[in-house]
Amino acid sequence: MMDRYEAIVVGAGIIGVSIALKLVENNMKTLLIDKCGDSCGATKYSGGVFTRILDDEEEYRWALKSHRFYMRYLNRADFINWGYLIIEETSLVEDDYEEYKRDVNGLRIVYPDEIPNILGIEVRLDDEMGLLVERDFTVNPGQLLEFLREVYMDMGGEFQRANYKGYSKECKTVKLDIGELSYEKLFLCLGPWGEDMPGRYSLSRLISIPIYKFDVRINVGYWDETLYGYFRVDRDSMVGGFYDAYPISDVDQGFGVPYDDSVSYALERINLRLGYKPNIDDMWRAPVALSLNFKPFHKQVAKDVHVFNGFGGRGLILGPGYIEDCLDNVLE
Ligand SMILES: Cc1cc2nc3c(=O)[nH]c(=O)nc-3n(C[C@H](O)[C@H](O)[C@H](O)COP(=O)(O)OP(=O)(O)OC[C@H]3O[C@@H](n4cnc5c(N)ncnc54)[C@H](O)[C@@H]3O)c2cc1C
Repeated sequence: MMDRYEAIVVGAGIIGVSIALKLVENNMKTLLIDKCGDSCGATKYSGGVFTRILDDEEEYRWALKSHRFYMRYLNRADFINWGYLIIEETSLVEDDYEEYKRDVNGLRIVYPDEIPNILGIEVRLDDEMGLLVERDFTVNPGQLLEFLREVYMDMGGEFQRANYKGYSKECKTVKLDIGELSYEKLFLCLGPWGEDMPGRYSLSRLISIPIYKFDVRINVGYWDETLYGYFRVDRDSMVGGFYDAYPISDVDQGFGVPYDDSVSYALERINLRLGYKPNIDDMWRAPVALSLNFKPFHKQVAKDVHVFNGFGGRGLILGPGYIEDCLDNVLE
């Protein structure tokens, strides 16, 4: 007899893992599936930055909810780098402090002379200051996924390595390279691979985002509004990028190393802040799926079949919060 699950989640990136966790929390017999033993998608290669300081009102609400999700699990994780520093114009720091202080605890203004101590490096400032969010964080995203998957399995969730080949809505089965399984609810969280699946569900496009590991030691992750760059702590280096991206037409094109002009751009940008060009110890790029309105989407594509995608460059930040909004309706 075919194995039957109350819920099957395909894709074990941050979106699939967050959904799977929520389902086992709801006592559903849940199976998480990925073609890789460890996830090998956008999440693993991402920046690993989590911040709630976002301009867009809707995204800000999702980020607040995501933060509550992470706090439930990450307080006992020893691999998180707590604290995220925003460096921006003095007037923006003051405005942001007033705007965010109600919802974001552990928020404080950091004056220019404190920045080198907090950040761990000397930076060239103009008329700028910092806003430190003590409970935002940066993390190696591969480790984060591994940790969340372990929590999910400790709660009774199951994982199967398999290649997804489609589903039958009539028989309520998932087709895998290793056979078929029966579902009551199916969640497809394939990130940038989503578009190639049978039954195209939404218009979206793929971009490839470059990222660099610089030989610069920092104490906390930071967002640099002037450079438009984000950085996480990674042992003796900092890992980050500059919202530089290339359109691509298929997922495979999304992996590789950044093009030369991106590398020069990254070094020029960082030179503005540090006053020198650091060495690049490693660099890569990875694909993400963007929806046409740049917002995440949840779409019911058949009875009890749900697609979550379009998280673009902010899946770690927006994912768990967005999912919580949608799942409450799906599970009613
Ligand atoms: C360089 C870079 C930096 C980024 N920085 C940040 C950041 O700092 N903060 C932030 O919030 N976001 C960041 N992002 C965006 C973030 O990584 C994505 O929004 C997020 O990872 C999307 O998650 P996902 O679960 O939808 O996709 P993925 O992580 O790609 O997960 C999809 C999973 O589906 C699996 N899969 C695909 N096809 C199949 C199949 N046929 N069968 C079985 N399994 C399959 C894949 O193996 C993969 O594990 C960054 C992205 C990049 C590329």
